Amino acid sequence: MKILDLRSLPADSELSAEVCVVGSGPAGMTLAAELASGGVDVLVLESGGRDIDPQTSSLNETENVGAQRVAEHERVRTRAFGGTSRIWSGRCGALDELDYEPRSWVPHSGWPITAADMSPYLDRARPYLNIGPNVYDDSFLELANQRQTRPPLEPPLVPYFWQVSRSRTEAGLPTRFDRDLPTAAGAADAIRVLLHATVTHINTDADGSVVRSLEASCAGGPTATITARVFVLATGAIENARLLLASDRDIPGGVGNANDLVGRYLMDHPGSVIATIKPEAAWSLRDRFGRYWLDGPEGRHVYIAGIALSPEFQRAEELLNCSAFVEEYPAPDDPFHAAQRLLCRLRGQPVPEEEIEVASFWRHEISAFFGRRPSGLGDVKSIVRHLPSVIAGAYRIRRLHRPPLFRAGAVHVYCLTEQLPDRESRVTLSDRRDDLGMRVARLDWRIAEAEVRSVRRLGELLGDALERVGEPRPVPQPWLSAEDWRAGMTDRAHPIGTTRMADDPREGVVDRNCAVHGVQGLYVAGSSTFPTSGHVNPTEMIVALSIRLADHIKNDVLAPTRVATSGAAGPAGAVQA
Ligand SMILES: Cc1cc2nc3c(=O)[nH]c(=O)nc-3n(C[C@H](O)[C@H](O)[C@H](O)COP(=O)(O)OP(=O)(O)OC[C@H]3O[C@@H](n4cnc5c(N)ncnc54)[C@H](O)[C@@H]3O)c2cc1C
Repeated sequence: MKILDLRSLPADSELSAEVCVVGSGPAGMTLAAELASGGVDVLVLESGGRDIDPQTSSLNETENVGAQRVAEHERVRTRAFGGTSRIWSGRCGALDELDYEPRSWVPHSGWPITAADMSPYLDRARPYLNIGPNVYDDSFLELANQRQTRPPLEPPLVPYFWQVSRSRTEAGLPTRFDRDLPTAAGAADAIRVLLHATVTHINTDADGSVVRSLEASCAGGPTATITARVFVLATGAIENARLLLASDRDIPGGVGNANDLVGRYLMDHPGSVIATIKPEAAWSLRDRFGRYWLDGPEGRHVYIAGIALSPEFQRAEELLNCSAFVEEYPAPDDPFHAAQRLLCRLRGQPVPEEEIEVASFWRHEISAFFGRRPSGLGDVKSIVRHLPSVIAGAYRIRRLHRPPLFRAGAVHVYCLTEQLPDRESRVTLSDRRDDLGMRVARLDWRIAEAEVRSVRRLGELLGDALERVGEPRPVPQPWLSAEDWRAGMTDRAHPIGTTRMADDPREGVVDRNCAVHGVQGLYVAGSSTFPTSGHVNPTEMIVALSIRLADHIKNDVLAPTRVATSGAAGPAGAVQA
């Protein structure tokens, strides 16, 4: 990749490319890699630099007037090369078939594309995320040559297996999109990334129907104008809406907003701990759920078992799609983590737990457990004292092909749910401005009663099902039955839905190809295009949609004009920076 920096370009530079992608997170870099592999000249504009720095991060500030957020938004969205993949947890999965369908009890549901349409793109997303086969239901156990030795939990609960993205360059961390791109060297060289280039305005013709250029700037530095045949916004669901809305110098209400839809239907995955269970009573539950390995030619893939509601039951009780899984936090004297820490110290490497802790979204939840981390001598003592657990762990690894069950300090049942698309849940612009003079995003994120109703029902069903098979019933969290249940739920830093996809411009901002309705040359990539959220973490879907968008741009937008101007060598209209 050719890495440039706006700060070192001359004032008022003019840059050009065949396709200009704004944002270098999973959405933007996947798109850039796919386009470059097809011989397209791509310029990626990235607001941040190579490292995360407070000044650039402050451009992510928001004004929050809605439901409580898990953390300030300059922390949970990353303005740096690679985007939020610099701090994400790597959990992957695909939407269920029902998620794509219109559902009478979910107003504004229904995607213009189906699960079958997405399936090939989800397969092509695998190398980007370094994940295994997209098998997320109970057929995974057969694939992994595993048997559920414990009595199964009966319908309406159905198994759901997430998998974990793994970096190719750093053990123990998920894929980072600034350095883990599985692109052939030649293709990667065709990508130019311009760092410290924050796009502040989209310039169109007088009636807003064709994009002409983008304006980019950096604090105290030069500005640049970028022209391209195709522009794609891949700045995350909050910034995609903010940028369209803020591009209102000539077009009142902003670009692509003729139907007053930009920023609306903001969703996330409201979630929380719904129950706890004493670690000493949770061994069997942790074994039933927990992690599984799938070894193949591409190496080891890790899957996490959980449960979800069957589609039939969602229909019958008019519930939202939601899922639950077990979160386990190691005790300070867990011998496996102690051994890992000792090894790292001996090798002079950073302790992975510390890295994960620094990066973790859940820092406030897990710090209580990691905070009491013992010294090197304490770690040796933990290993000796818990030698039987170490032997049992070795048996699990060798004979059961499962990771060891470590000594847990706490075990939680965590639930995530989809949301009802709500027109009033939205991103608008505040009067406050950031360092570059752009109005900051004002978030009015709303959680509806339907969400907590679905989560409560899942919690009850799980408790009943576990009791029926002789497992202890997890203790429900008091917030679930409290009048003020909203205080118990927060977002998961998965903003979704602010430029939703629909064939009808009165229903959505982008069409099924992610083209902004009524604005030629402008596309959107990322979770802002999702019409509904499902329960599953969004990034695998984001990557798959970017691959699909790249195919559309290459085959349906650029190829016909290349044929028409046959004889033109290289990317038409491209002027190198
Ligand atoms: C702690 C944490 C854990 C997470 N864990 C998971 C998980 O386990 N599984 C999962 O699926 N998802 C997870 N997510 C969410 C995941 O990180 C996002 O879904 C994903 O990063 C979205 O990709 P994106 O490319 O659309 O946006 P981003 O990754 O946010 O990238 C957007 C990029 O655009 C740039 N940008 C913004 N505005 C501008 C502008 N005006 N001009 C130029 N550039 C701009 C930003 O600097 C950034 O680099 C997690 C998020 C957090 C915070």
